[in-house]
Amino acid sequence: MPIAWIGLGSNLEQPSQQLLTAFQELAQLPQTQLRQTSRLWQSKPMGPQDQPDFINAVAQLDTELEPLQLLDALQQLEQHHQRVKLRHWGERTLDLDLLLYDQLEYQHPRLTLPHPGITQRAFVLLPLAELAADLYIPGKGRVSHLLDQLTLDDFQGVLPLEANSLSGL
Ligand code: ADP
Ligand code: MG
Repeated sequence: MPIAWIGLGSNLEQPSQQLLTAFQELAQLPQTQLRQTSRLWQSKPMGPQDQPDFINAVAQLDTELEPLQLLDALQQLEQHHQRVKLRHWGERTLDLDLLLYDQLEYQHPRLTLPHPGITQRAFVLLPLAELAADLYIPGKGRVSHLLDQLTLDDFQGVLPLEANSLSGL
Protein backbone atom coordinates (compact mmCIF):
# COMPACT_ATOMS: atom_id res chain seq x y z
CA MET A 1 0.00 0.00 0.00
CA PRO A 2 1.36 3.49 -0.79
CA ILE A 3 2.90 5.47 2.07
CA ALA A 4 2.08 9.15 2.44
CA TRP A 5 3.70 11.69 4.77
CA ILE A 6 1.57 14.61 5.97
CA GLY A 7 2.85 17.87 7.48
CA LEU A 8 0.48 19.48 9.98
CA GLY A 9 0.56 23.06 11.24
CA SER A 10 -1.64 25.37 13.30
CA ASN A 11 -1.29 28.66 15.14
CA LEU A 12 -4.88 29.57 16.02
CA GLU A 13 -7.65 28.24 18.28
CA GLN A 14 -5.64 25.93 20.58
CA PRO A 15 -3.08 24.72 18.03
CA SER A 16 -2.01 21.58 19.92
CA GLN A 17 -5.62 20.46 20.18
CA GLN A 18 -6.15 21.18 16.48
CA LEU A 19 -3.28 18.80 15.66
CA LEU A 20 -4.38 16.04 18.06
CA THR A 21 -7.87 16.17 16.56
CA ALA A 22 -6.39 16.14 13.05
CA PHE A 23 -4.41 12.95 13.88
CA GLN A 24 -7.70 11.24 14.77
CA GLU A 25 -9.34 12.51 11.61
CA LEU A 26 -6.45 11.27 9.47
CA ALA A 27 -6.88 7.86 11.12
CA GLN A 28 -10.51 7.85 9.98
CA LEU A 29 -9.94 8.66 6.30
CA PRO A 30 -11.32 5.99 3.95
CA GLN A 31 -8.90 3.32 2.66
CA THR A 32 -6.27 4.75 4.99
CA GLN A 33 -4.41 3.77 8.16
CA LEU A 34 -2.52 6.12 10.43
CA ARG A 35 0.90 4.51 11.01
CA GLN A 36 2.90 6.97 13.11
CA THR A 37 2.74 10.49 14.44
CA SER A 38 5.64 12.68 15.55
CA ARG A 39 5.76 14.73 18.70
CA LEU A 40 4.35 18.23 18.56
CA TRP A 41 6.95 20.88 17.75
CA GLN A 42 6.78 24.60 18.31
CA SER A 43 8.13 26.97 15.65
CA LYS A 44 8.32 30.65 14.83
CA PRO A 45 6.07 31.75 11.96
CA MET A 46 7.52 32.09 8.47
CA GLY A 47 6.68 35.42 6.89
CA PRO A 48 4.72 37.90 9.05
CA GLN A 49 6.08 37.82 12.65
CA ASP A 50 3.05 39.52 14.23
CA GLN A 51 1.20 36.22 14.67
CA PRO A 52 1.33 33.41 17.25
CA ASP A 53 3.97 30.64 17.12
CA PHE A 54 3.03 27.51 15.19
CA ILE A 55 2.64 23.97 16.40
CA ASN A 56 3.85 21.47 13.79
CA ALA A 57 3.97 17.70 13.43
CA VAL A 58 4.11 15.02 10.76
CA ALA A 59 2.08 11.85 10.30
CA GLN A 60 2.72 8.71 8.27
CA LEU A 61 -0.23 7.11 6.48
CA ASP A 62 -0.78 3.90 4.56
CA THR A 63 -3.37 4.79 1.96
CA GLU A 64 -5.06 3.46 -1.12
CA LEU A 65 -6.28 6.96 -2.00
CA GLU A 66 -4.64 8.38 -5.13
CA PRO A 67 -2.51 11.49 -4.51
CA LEU A 68 -5.19 13.96 -5.70
CA GLN A 69 -7.91 12.09 -3.78
CA LEU A 70 -5.74 12.35 -0.68
CA LEU A 71 -5.22 16.10 -1.29
CA ASP A 72 -9.02 16.50 -1.60
CA ALA A 73 -9.46 14.68 1.71
CA LEU A 74 -6.82 16.85 3.42
CA GLN A 75 -8.44 20.03 2.13
CA GLN A 76 -11.83 18.83 3.41
CA LEU A 77 -10.29 18.32 6.85
CA GLU A 78 -8.84 21.84 6.72
CA GLN A 79 -12.33 23.15 5.93
CA HIS A 80 -13.76 21.07 8.74
CA HIS A 81 -11.46 22.91 11.12
CA GLN A 82 -13.02 26.10 9.82
CA ARG A 83 -9.66 27.07 8.56
CA VAL A 84 -9.27 30.78 8.15
CA LYS A 85 -6.44 31.90 5.96
CA LEU A 86 -6.02 35.64 6.06
CA ARG A 87 -2.77 36.10 4.16
CA HIS A 88 0.09 34.19 2.53
CA TRP A 89 2.22 32.48 5.20
CA GLY A 90 -0.22 33.93 7.70
CA GLU A 91 -2.11 32.47 10.62
CA ARG A 92 -4.38 29.44 10.17
CA THR A 93 -6.31 26.96 12.29
CA LEU A 94 -5.05 23.95 10.34
CA ASP A 95 -2.68 23.45 7.43
CA LEU A 96 -2.26 19.95 6.02
CA ASP A 97 0.48 19.51 3.43
CA LEU A 98 1.11 16.33 1.50
CA LEU A 99 4.88 16.13 1.93
CA LEU A 100 5.60 12.89 0.11
CA TYR A 101 3.67 10.08 -1.56
CA ASP A 102 5.87 7.01 -1.93
CA GLN A 103 8.78 8.10 -4.11
CA LEU A 104 6.51 9.96 -6.54
CA GLU A 105 7.66 13.10 -8.33
CA TYR A 106 4.60 14.86 -9.63
CA GLN A 107 3.69 18.27 -11.03
CA HIS A 108 0.04 19.26 -11.21
CA PRO A 109 -1.61 22.70 -10.86
CA ARG A 110 -2.99 21.58 -7.47
CA LEU A 111 -0.22 19.30 -6.26
CA THR A 112 3.58 19.29 -6.29
CA LEU A 113 5.35 16.18 -4.97
CA PRO A 114 7.55 16.08 -3.05
CA HIS A 115 6.24 19.22 -1.32
CA PRO A 116 8.73 21.94 -2.37
CA GLY A 117 9.05 23.34 1.17
CA ILE A 118 10.47 20.18 2.77
CA THR A 119 14.14 20.85 2.17
CA GLN A 120 14.54 24.18 3.99
CA ARG A 121 12.07 23.78 6.84
CA ALA A 122 13.40 22.61 10.20
CA PHE A 123 9.82 22.35 11.51
CA VAL A 124 9.17 19.68 8.84
CA LEU A 125 12.56 17.92 8.83
CA LEU A 126 12.92 17.56 12.62
CA PRO A 127 9.59 15.76 13.15
CA LEU A 128 10.24 13.71 9.98
CA ALA A 129 13.67 12.70 11.31
CA GLU A 130 12.05 11.56 14.55
CA LEU A 131 10.09 8.95 12.59
CA ALA A 132 12.28 8.24 9.57
CA ALA A 133 15.72 9.88 9.43
CA ASP A 134 16.67 7.59 6.52
CA LEU A 135 13.63 8.51 4.43
CA TYR A 136 14.71 9.46 0.90
CA ILE A 137 13.12 12.56 -0.64
CA PRO A 138 13.29 12.07 -4.43
CA GLY A 139 15.55 14.58 -6.11
CA LYS A 140 16.69 15.98 -2.73
CA GLY A 141 18.30 13.31 -0.53
CA ARG A 142 17.72 11.68 2.83
CA VAL A 143 16.03 13.56 5.67
CA SER A 144 19.20 13.26 7.82
CA HIS A 145 21.27 14.69 4.96
CA LEU A 146 18.82 17.58 4.42
CA LEU A 147 19.00 18.43 8.14
CA ASP A 148 22.80 18.55 7.86
CA GLN A 149 22.43 21.19 5.15
CA LEU A 150 20.48 23.60 7.39
CA THR A 151 22.22 26.43 9.20
CA LEU A 152 21.94 27.20 12.91
CA ASP A 153 19.57 30.02 12.02
CA ASP A 154 17.12 27.59 10.42
CA PHE A 155 16.69 25.85 13.80
CA GLN A 156 15.99 29.05 15.74
CA GLY A 157 12.79 28.74 17.72
CA VAL A 158 12.02 25.16 16.63
CA LEU A 159 11.73 22.87 19.64
CA PRO A 160 9.65 19.93 20.84
CA LEU A 161 6.69 21.05 22.91
CA GLU A 162 7.48 18.78 25.91
CA ALA A 163 10.99 20.20 26.28
CA ASN A 164 9.49 23.65 26.12
CA SER A 165 6.99 23.01 28.90
CA LEU A 166 9.70 21.39 31.08
CA SER A 167 11.82 24.51 30.79
CA GLY A 168 9.09 26.37 32.65
CA LEU A 169 9.45 24.17 35.75
P1 ADP B 1 0.61 27.02 2.16
O1 ADP B 1 0.53 25.67 2.81
O2 ADP B 1 1.71 27.11 1.13
O3 ADP B 1 0.65 28.16 3.11
P2 ADP B 1 -2.03 26.43 1.22
O4 ADP B 1 -2.12 25.39 2.28
O5 ADP B 1 -3.15 27.40 1.13
O6 ADP B 1 -0.70 27.27 1.35
O7 ADP B 1 -1.83 25.69 -0.15
C1 ADP B 1 -1.94 26.40 -1.34
C2 ADP B 1 -2.11 25.41 -2.48
O8 ADP B 1 -1.01 24.55 -2.54
C3 ADP B 1 -3.32 24.50 -2.41
O9 ADP B 1 -4.35 25.03 -3.17
C4 ADP B 1 -2.81 23.18 -3.01
O10 ADP B 1 -3.54 22.80 -4.15
C5 ADP B 1 -1.37 23.50 -3.38
N1 ADP B 1 -0.42 22.41 -3.23
C6 ADP B 1 0.53 22.09 -4.13
N2 ADP B 1 1.27 21.06 -3.73
C7 ADP B 1 0.79 20.70 -2.49
C8 ADP B 1 1.16 19.68 -1.55
N3 ADP B 1 2.17 18.83 -1.81
N4 ADP B 1 0.45 19.61 -0.41
C9 ADP B 1 -0.57 20.48 -0.15
N5 ADP B 1 -0.96 21.45 -1.00
C10 ADP B 1 -0.30 21.57 -2.18
MG1 MG C 1 -0.82 23.95 2.86
